[in-house]
Amino acid sequence: MRKEMPGNSKRVLLLGGTGDALAIARELPAAHVYSLAGLGRVPGDLTCTVRVGGFGGIDGLARYLRAENIALVVDATHPYAAQMSRHAHAACALADVPLWAVRRPAWQPQPGDDWRDAADWREIVARIAAFQRPLFTLGREALAHLHEIPASQRWTVRCLEAHPGNERAKIIDARGPFDLEGERALFDAAGVDVVVSKNSGGRATEAKLAVARERGLPVVMLTRPSLPDAHRTFDDAASARDALLRWLDSIDTSET
Ligand code: NAP
Repeated sequence: MRKEMPGNSKRVLLLGGTGDALAIARELPAAHVYSLAGLGRVPGDLTCTVRVGGFGGIDGLARYLRAENIALVVDATHPYAAQMSRHAHAACALADVPLWAVRRPAWQPQPGDDWRDAADWREIVARIAAFQRPLFTLGREALAHLHEIPASQRWTVRCLEAHPGNERAKIIDARGPFDLEGERALFDAAGVDVVVSKNSGGRATEAKLAVARERGLPVVMLTRPSLPDAHRTFDDAASARDALLRWLDSIDTSET
């Protein structure tokens, strides 16, 4: 654990809601802020300050940065949380605050993979039309479409939300990481014949791709949104955390 920052120190705002962000947040002293949208679990065991809920758009975030004396924003949101990343970029420019970002590299297809791109929900529905047992791992999006499931299909939807499902959809409320054995068991139990996924990157949820590969199953991959630039970008949480700890040390040294 890091030493406490002096009371009037510049502060870090860490934008989170991911395992990557939580790993960084665990290293932050109390003066710094970990921010969550409020859709998932709020950790209760962090030393840093945890705030929950939106900032009220770009202007709201810029006001927050100034009011809270934020000297650095670290965007460690999910690669598909594009609105928050764009707002962070614009608000940091307005408030003249540097922005760092964790930008997980996308998964790349390997020999044996059968990935089929889909730009939006309409394209996903078209890509899975010929299949009977899709496994959705997109998050909560699929829950809004449970009433549209064709009679020929039975869906399995894995997301972070408890939901009763319906006669054509089973909802699995589970949080990664997921390992190969667990994914094989899920594919067997649900009779999965196609996977629907975001291209999230990282290790925590990639096992499903290996299982699809070994079984010759297609993966319908939702196209990644484009994300804004940042002053510094990191491929993973560990490198962002290390750079942040060095930055905090430099602040400590210059202000104490
Ligand atoms: P989004 O569409 O990019 O953001 C929608 C709005 O939610 C933002 O404009 C902002 O509201 C608020 N918001 C988002 N992240 C926030 C944060 N860390 N702190 C405070 N406010 C935040 O985001 P999303 O895709 O709905 O994702 C919401 C959260 O879930 C994010 O924190 C993300 O990291 C996490 N998550 C998302 C996914 C995914 O697939 N999208 C997967 C795993 C985790 P204001 O405009 O009012 O500031």
